Amino acid sequence: MTARERVNILLVDDQAARLLSYEAILAPLEQNLVRASSGVEALQKLLKEEYAVILLDVSMPEMDGFETAALIHQHPRFERTPIIFVTGHNVTDMDALRGYELGAVDYVYVPIVPEILRGKVSVLVELHLKRQELQRANRSLEQANAQLALANTTLQAEKTRELEQLNAVLERANAGLAEANRTLNAEVAERQRAEEALRRSHERLREADRQKDEFLAMLAHELRNPLAPIHSAVELMALKEIADPEVRWCRDVIERQTEQLHRLVDDLLDVSRITQGKIKLQSAPLEVSAVISRALETTRPLIERRRHQLSVSVPEAPIWIEGDRTRLTQVVGNLLNNAAKYTPEGGQIRLTVELAGAGAEAQVLIRVSDSGTGISNEMLPKVFELFTQVDRTVHQAQGGLGIGLALVRRLVELHGGSVAAHSDGPGSGSEFVVRLPLLRQETVAPASPTAGDAAAPGLTARRVLVVDDNVDAALSLAGLLKVSGNIVETAYDGQQGIDAADRFRPEVVFLDLGMPKIDGFGAASWIRSQPWAEDVLLVAVTGWGQEDVRTRTQESGFDAHLVKPVNFAKLSRVLAQGRGAGRNRVG
Ligand code: ADP
Repeated sequence: MTARERVNILLVDDQAARLLSYEAILAPLEQNLVRASSGVEALQKLLKEEYAVILLDVSMPEMDGFETAALIHQHPRFERTPIIFVTGHNVTDMDALRGYELGAVDYVYVPIVPEILRGKVSVLVELHLKRQELQRANRSLEQANAQLALANTTLQAEKTRELEQLNAVLERANAGLAEANRTLNAEVAERQRAEEALRRSHERLREADRQKDEFLAMLAHELRNPLAPIHSAVELMALKEIADPEVRWCRDVIERQTEQLHRLVDDLLDVSRITQGKIKLQSAPLEVSAVISRALETTRPLIERRRHQLSVSVPEAPIWIEGDRTRLTQVVGNLLNNAAKYTPEGGQIRLTVELAGAGAEAQVLIRVSDSGTGISNEMLPKVFELFTQVDRTVHQAQGGLGIGLALVRRLVELHGGSVAAHSDGPGSGSEFVVRLPLLRQETVAPASPTAGDAAAPGLTARRVLVVDDNVDAALSLAGLLKVSGNIVETAYDGQQGIDAADRFRPEVVFLDLGMPKIDGFGAASWIRSQPWAEDVLLVAVTGWGQEDVRTRTQESGFDAHLVKPVNFAKLSRVLAQGRGAGRNRVG
């Protein structure tokens, strides 16, 4: 034990000799041994210092051991201080009990056995030391606890502050987000409104566009009706000898203008078909020169009228392509027509056909060039768009709706080809080049002329019935037919047509489709159901040229479908082909 750890032991006895012997016995414990010779002195000492053990003589004068012990233990500080009573063997059980009640932990008896006393004191000292140690440990534990509590409080405060800060930041961020969300929602709503408005205006536009297409188709159809009889009447006039040169000139004017009107009406119809994607090709192997000669045939009158010089160069060997003859003729015809229109009178027009590429890439190039007004660089890419006219005031004089080149491009593309325009600018002339894929050699049909290629044969005399509610149309067609020696009757509605057919037993019937009472379809099926009418050639004559109407006429028992105006050539062809070739589409 170190000096620091020494504890006080209070020895209380009125006999100095006993005190001496206690000291002697306890000296080896190496503790501080403090003497008191009376209970009072003992109490005084106790008030000054702390004691681990009190050795207390029971029988002392004035205040005996028990009284002293009672006083000691009354004091809260010494309540637990262990007391060993020193007593003679004559202590009664009652006394011993009293001692224990006063808080004594033990007794030693006189004569004292040193080992026993030392042992008891030593145990109590040890206990005291342990308690002290425990108290120290308790104190440092309390301190640690307090520090911990403090640290905890600080930490809590810090955490709370941080959390509050974080919370504030989060709240601000949340508020920002909510604001952004509101803005976004407003934007989304605005966008939806704009989209809805756009969709509605798009729908309105589409509807307007559809109505425009319908109107164009209807207009074209309505224009065809009066055109048909005018055209037939003019053709009829051409077959008659006209003596008066002025009247002849008038007839020529009417014929030219009718043709022009006819082209415009066809273009109008085509534009509605283009926009609705309704153009269908009737493709077959085709010789390019057949297309070229037909296109020249249709445009030559204009070229001659404008006194242009035309040079044509086509390779001698036949060039085969796959295509729709009528549509390709329209393509080349349009280009030649434009060249004639947009070149001042007396200009040069050149048409050349050449081959380019090889194998699967082999193409035929059809070039139409002129020495005319030319096209500016900005307008070049636009000329193939619908309704494009470089200069309306200039070009209006030439007639046209700005449809021709759009049609050309669409038709050429439908044939798997392409078309391009070139010009060095205003006044330098223009060149249009159409490229079409060549037909592969193995698919070329034997080069025999088809019915369409054949020149229209002369008409042979037939019994013909013409039924049309447009009296002019019926009469002019009848006139054309009579000129060729046919016996012709006319009727002006479906019912009259049926009656006339029953009576007249015609070999050929031309039926208008849209008629009062019974329409052309009804009249056709009645006629076809008659036993005498098995071989009658039924021809539909109508302003409608659409595919679905053609299909319907075919299904209703018609042998041919002629689109108004009916000209001499169409008429000749349909009469020449008869029922056998039947089902062929003419017109
Ligand atoms: P349009 O009915 O006006 O002739 P097109 O579609 O055939 O319509 O042609 C569109 C425009 O392209 C014409 O109005 C004309 O300005 C221009 N154009 C077409 N061909 C020629 C050409 N050979 N020379 C000069 N300009 C041309």
